[in-house]
Amino acid sequence: MSDRRSLLLLVGGAALTVYAVAFAGSYGHDVLTRAGIYAIAAIGYQLVFGRLGALSLAQGCFFGLGAYAAALTALDLGFGFPFTVIAGTALPVLLAALIAIPVLRLASHYFALATLGIAQLTLLAAINWTEVTGGANGLFGIPQISIAGLQIGFGLPLTAFVWTCVAVSLWISHRLTAGRRSLAVETLRAAPSAAAALGIDGAAIRFRFFLASAGFGGFAGALQAHAVGVVSPDVLSFHILVLLLAMTVIGGRDSPLGAVLGALLLVHLPEWFRDFADYYLVAYGAALLGAIIFLPNGLAGLLPERRTPRSEAKLPAPHPRRDAALSVEHVTKHFGGVAALDDVSISVAPGEIVGLIGPNGSGKTTLVNLISGIEKPGSGRIHFGNEDLTGRSPERIARTGIVRTFQHPQIAPGLTLGDSLEAVGPCDTEALLARVGLGERAGDLAGSLPPAAQKRLEIARALATGASLLALDEPAAGMNDIERADLAQLLKALAAEGHAILLVDHAMDFLLPLADRVVCLSAGRIVAEGTPKEIVQDPRAIRAYFGESPL
Ligand code: ADP
Ligand code: MG
Repeated sequence: MSDRRSLLLLVGGAALTVYAVAFAGSYGHDVLTRAGIYAIAAIGYQLVFGRLGALSLAQGCFFGLGAYAAALTALDLGFGFPFTVIAGTALPVLLAALIAIPVLRLASHYFALATLGIAQLTLLAAINWTEVTGGANGLFGIPQISIAGLQIGFGLPLTAFVWTCVAVSLWISHRLTAGRRSLAVETLRAAPSAAAALGIDGAAIRFRFFLASAGFGGFAGALQAHAVGVVSPDVLSFHILVLLLAMTVIGGRDSPLGAVLGALLLVHLPEWFRDFADYYLVAYGAALLGAIIFLPNGLAGLLPERRTPRSEAKLPAPHPRRDAALSVEHVTKHFGGVAALDDVSISVAPGEIVGLIGPNGSGKTTLVNLISGIEKPGSGRIHFGNEDLTGRSPERIARTGIVRTFQHPQIAPGLTLGDSLEAVGPCDTEALLARVGLGERAGDLAGSLPPAAQKRLEIARALATGASLLALDEPAAGMNDIERADLAQLLKALAAEGHAILLVDHAMDFLLPLADRVVCLSAGRIVAEGTPKEIVQDPRAIRAYFGESPL
């Protein structure tokens, strides 16, 4: 498969080269140059919009900022090209770094609005800071690109230079996203809470990708300044962003090549539809709609499947504590006026299965959220061995060996089962999938599994991290009797291997035979605690859990 893809790309690249060298006139070269410049900015945009799924509206701003920075360093400071392009790349990266910390944590629509605000401010500055930016007229006379005294002339030389930069950008983007890292990023996009709970450092990935997107955008803008010789507030206008967005959507969200295909197509479309004059916009809109409806993976999705290379990217290895016991001491968690947890203490030792029961809304999931760091306790402490985990991030908690699964499975539907496990760590995927009863299905998409099987996939994924403590939130929900029996056997085997297991479940016939100890919550408080035998006879547990009708 991957050979067919490479062959196709080789043929495509060769055809483009032949066209550029032998057939394109000077106007054709200009168009190709423009396409290449936009391709670089779109490669950057794809990292944030495509890979992270974050609607940044600042990519046009990074592009324009790069253009201004290159123009100003060339005109005012007399810098030569390599320095102007470094300035053009660095300024947007700097801005991205400054805004990343407040902006990147925002939920998606606020992130979009915040990046839009930044783009608007930059545009206003470019228009109004006349002494520096030349205001609405912009800056003129930016010199052509020349490297070490060698001038890169307009036409074919410039086109070749820009497309060399495209190739380098593709390579960098590929390095950023290659191999197992791309699986981790896809998990982060599709199931952010799961990614955190599995130890994937989402904040670092977001930060790196956002800065890289700014770098690509700025670099492209700097090229544009030198290629056109003029910079005006137009380079900061909203339509550049829309163009980059369209290129990414039409070209393909998750392959850097998509950005290149999208840029080639969208820059050439107006040329091909020139004769249609005003109808061009209709054709453009139709192409965009058509791509969204018929090509959900964009033009790049039409290419033969790429093989995901394994074991390339180094991910931080987990350091699970095989000998540590979890102890939760007097934790409290309030949501507004509701005490979801009130002075709850619980411990789970290696090799032990502790059952957590309680009616709906009694705080079971909240306790799992506190243990996995997704929520912070209002008071109380959480230790794993002698390590204090209170207030730590989910990623760090996961890396100490505590991994939870979710009441509502959090998976990346577009990853295969095998890739879902590879995303979190190097592991024998076949063996792990077989353990949870999903052997032979490594190549299926996670999204094609029914919910009960997705829960088993979550357990396999937790094991793939090398976790020593598993906190399972209603893992048997939706399973039939045979699946439950299999799961019970698996959990027993895992405990026998030394895993500590906190098992939240409703099904008493499932949980009681498995658990060494059972803790019963009611309205956020522990009302009963003991062996399964003691619990079924405990009047407080019966009242809390079984209501008016005891067993
Ligand atoms: P369980 O898993 O036992 O069904 P939960 O832990 O989900 O219970 O919920 C315990 C209580 O805390 C419920 O009253 C629930 O409404 C409340 N709660 C849980 N999470 C939140 C939240 N993020 N915001 C507000 N209230 C919450
Ligand atoms: Mg729950």
